[in-house]
Amino acid sequence: MDNKRYEQSVQMLTDKDWINRERAAVELGQIGDQRAVIPLINALKDNNEWVRANAAEALGLLKNKKAESALGLLLKDQDEWVCASAAEALGRIGGIKAVEYLMSALGHESEWVRRNTRDTLNSIANEIKDVQVLVSFLQVPYEELRASAAEALGRMNDVCVLGPLLDYYSALKDRGYALRQIKPVVRRLAPLQKENLKNFSHLFCPSCCRRPRKGRVKLGLFRSLKYACCPDCGTSVLEKGIEEVVGVIGSENGVYRNGPVFYVPLFDSRTREARYADVDRIEVWSNAGINYEEAVNLVVLELNDRSGRPSGWIKSLPVTVMAGAGLSVGASNMLKQFFGQIIVHDKSK
Ligand SMILES: [Zn+2]
Repeated sequence: MDNKRYEQSVQMLTDKDWINRERAAVELGQIGDQRAVIPLINALKDNNEWVRANAAEALGLLKNKKAESALGLLLKDQDEWVCASAAEALGRIGGIKAVEYLMSALGHESEWVRRNTRDTLNSIANEIKDVQVLVSFLQVPYEELRASAAEALGRMNDVCVLGPLLDYYSALKDRGYALRQIKPVVRRLAPLQKENLKNFSHLFCPSCCRRPRKGRVKLGLFRSLKYACCPDCGTSVLEKGIEEVVGVIGSENGVYRNGPVFYVPLFDSRTREARYADVDRIEVWSNAGINYEEAVNLVVLELNDRSGRPSGWIKSLPVTVMAGAGLSVGASNMLKQFFGQIIVHDKSK
């Protein structure tokens, strides 16, 4: 039933009468079928502003992140109403990119669009869980939004909110005021950080693939809070109980956890790019679609190119070559040259 309604509406979206196209856009938003995302994105280029505005609104209802950039571009539409609809739709989607576009629209030439964008951002500040996005809100030239963001940050469990919050409240009045404001946040975070420091050697940031570092934020003359956080993204909300991090050459998977072991693919055979990770050892997996010589070469470059690590630290990393990984003599020699102990799993066993 809904499928028929969907098919009809998609067809109607390219009708020669704009009233039909507009109605079709509204319908597709109501039906809620995600297949409509691409046809609706195309309809954002319609020469009728009613169609463009309603297509934007429908995309907001579908909440599909694929529409973010198309809606972002629509914020530059010559019609105010279309821009305002795009802002509203981006607010409903609420992803990082959507928020970035909305921030840029805070300086829009139309007062109406500016106001609409502010209201939209304000209403989503409470739902945003991304610390970086909220921290960026603290910079906008709009007090109410800064306040909502500060409030939302105060509810986060992440120690990296403390610095930005201290700066924000200090700028409002003074440092003493700032410290009083964030006191409840510190009180809530302190036990978590105690826990983090106790389990420090088994923590891991899965998005940056880094082991944490220790830090300390000063809270007045005699007080400070010690914490553990990711050296790259700064988060203190970390994966716990990770005893070993294994870097994999030849994996087609993403990063994943298996009990106390975390696996990180170090080479992507599609993009042919290597990545850095704080690994404890390396595994080479069998993979027909990979040039091992190239992979090993790029991985070595990436692992060595990290400040804070003594040069040649990878010399101590053991490497396990799994059965079936057909390494060339060149790739084998490279492994022996750069890494520590090499263990080869024989196929016959
Ligand atoms: Zn991180």
